[in-house]
Amino acid sequence: MLREITKRQHEWLDKAVALRENVLAPNASEIDEFGRWPKENFDALKASGLWGIGVPEEFGGAGVDPLGIGLVLEQLARGCGSTAMAFGMHVNSFWPLAAVGTKEQNEKYIVPAMEKKLQATHANTERATGTQFWNFLSFAQKTKSGWLLNAEKAFVTSAGEADVYWFTGRPSEDAPLMAVNLWYLDASLGGWDITDEWHGLGLRGQRSARMVFKDIEVPDDAAFVADGSMLETAFPAILASLGATLIVNFLGMSQSLVDHTIKHVKNRVHQNTGLRLSQVDMVQDRIGAMQARVDATRELVYSALDLAGRESLESWMVPMIEAKSAVASTATYVAEQALHACGAQAYRGDGEVSRAYRDAIAAPIMAPSEDWCNILVGRALLDEPLFG
Ligand SMILES: Cc1cc2nc3c(=O)[nH]c(=O)nc-3n(C[C@H](O)[C@H](O)[C@H](O)COP(=O)(O)OP(=O)(O)OC[C@H]3O[C@@H](n4cnc5c(N)ncnc54)[C@H](O)[C@@H]3O)c2cc1C
Repeated sequence: MLREITKRQHEWLDKAVALRENVLAPNASEIDEFGRWPKENFDALKASGLWGIGVPEEFGGAGVDPLGIGLVLEQLARGCGSTAMAFGMHVNSFWPLAAVGTKEQNEKYIVPAMEKKLQATHANTERATGTQFWNFLSFAQKTKSGWLLNAEKAFVTSAGEADVYWFTGRPSEDAPLMAVNLWYLDASLGGWDITDEWHGLGLRGQRSARMVFKDIEVPDDAAFVADGSMLETAFPAILASLGATLIVNFLGMSQSLVDHTIKHVKNRVHQNTGLRLSQVDMVQDRIGAMQARVDATRELVYSALDLAGRESLESWMVPMIEAKSAVASTATYVAEQALHACGAQAYRGDGEVSRAYRDAIAAPIMAPSEDWCNILVGRALLDEPLFG
């Protein structure tokens, strides 16, 4: 990365590199093979001092620093995509919650969550609206002292493992589709069920599932956004945290795929010629092109994150959305090159290249999808409303 980083960013980065090398990378193959929940990785993250990144120190977190958090998530994703995805959803939940919560709400909900090292995740996307994450069909009902929550959420990472759900829906049945509330939903209240645990091509250790939430009563102050304005009031925090977690995750997974491709081609020898694949210029060309794409994308992603930490939304909104589009097309490009460079050995399904390939190809489809990012950038440039 071609920029100077602060002392704290260095400290976070060093911790993330140590976690990647000593814990995440050594476990990654086995986690993928059995599609199991990476408990030991989360235990190590909880002990690392990085668990509260994204939450201000005054509320028990490790601090809010988009670039610093991006540095951490890239390393984690380079070691184990599944762990980074689930940890990213955790950071991406507490960060905007703490950003929009009142002091009283943060003291009641966020501070104890940080003390107890609770894990959060996003119960957000609905099957009815898919990648159009700004439209919600589900709605809550107001009760005398709180809210009655009901929804079916299509893809929830860390389903059943999380202690806290970032939970979204409309404030009432007659509210417009874009009127969204945000609740802090304590998983221990019950009332939720996993209805369909799906088995992804990749990211197999992050336990994603469809979930149904039925008649869960929460108190008034569990609504961190209660007037349907989440898309306006929480948007800067949502976009910054998305950039530092989800977008960077796919950068780390792309780098991981380059790493494993290099390892493979250095070890594969053709016995008729005695040449390693790494000595073939076609392969050298592909490796160079893969790394160049990842490095160029990294600069866009980190420039947007750097601005997100220091400037107003107008200066970094479009670069951040472009960064998601760029990271998606880079992941797709790197995946194609890796298959060409490694051949059938990479396609057999159970090797390191194959795991990194299957993880990386989720980049264009995870919301905001590459298609939608390009549309949103186009709308911004054409002075058209972003969401509709
Ligand atoms: C590994 C993984 C983990 C996830 N974790 C979570 C989570 O923790 N919490 C959560 O809430 N969600 C999560 N999601 C959901 C995710 O972010 C997406 O919202 C979801 O994948 C949308 O899928 P869909 O099939 O319903 O998309 P659809 O909306 O059916 O879209 C299908 C394709 O069509 C394209 N498309 C749709 N409409 C248009 C249009 N008008 N113009 C151009 N292109 C269009 C989309 O870009 C997409 O590529 C996860 C998804 C994955 C894959």
